[in-house]
Amino acid sequence: MRPALIVVDMVHEFVRGRLKSPQAESIVPTIKRLIDKARECGAPVIHVVDRHLPFDHELKLWGPHAMANSPESNIVEELKPIEGEYVFPKRFYSGFRDTGLDIALRDMNVDTLVVTGIHTHICVLHTVADAFYYGYKVYVVKDGVAAFSQRDHEYALDYMRSVYGAEIVDSSRAVEVICSGRRGG
Ligand code: ZN
Repeated sequence: MRPALIVVDMVHEFVRGRLKSPQAESIVPTIKRLIDKARECGAPVIHVVDRHLPFDHELKLWGPHAMANSPESNIVEELKPIEGEYVFPKRFYSGFRDTGLDIALRDMNVDTLVVTGIHTHICVLHTVADAFYYGYKVYVVKDGVAAFSQRDHEYALDYMRSVYGAEIVDSSRAVEVICSGRRGG
């Protein structure tokens, strides 16, 4: 098994901005802990983040948010990538759609994803759907994802488990998964 930690949309817009989740602040320390463990264990840390262009379809629904080159599309300071960690900008919900993420993961021999971030029922769910189509083993960290409401959060976790076969785990179990791979293995 070669796991990678995927961090979805932990940018200012969704943590502290116009489309923030009420639970967003509370998952920042959990994700930070998972990033630290991934660094220790040599697992790749990959951010997929909204960087919208003015004509993007999604803006009709949500209004302008996380626009490319705006401060709102910056990853929050606590989770900033270090050298050797990659950021894949996206213009759709899924971290895979037109981002090059799949081929990058394959080139790193990654076959297992530990998914964290915002929002459980939108970008996390769509990223997990694509991960399922591409054949990855997926773990979703239930205390490392957040939505607009507890209801959105819970139905999305249940949906990802029952429809995409994702394992819904807590962050302690996620650490075991992240550190079960071997560097370069
Ligand atoms: Zn968006």
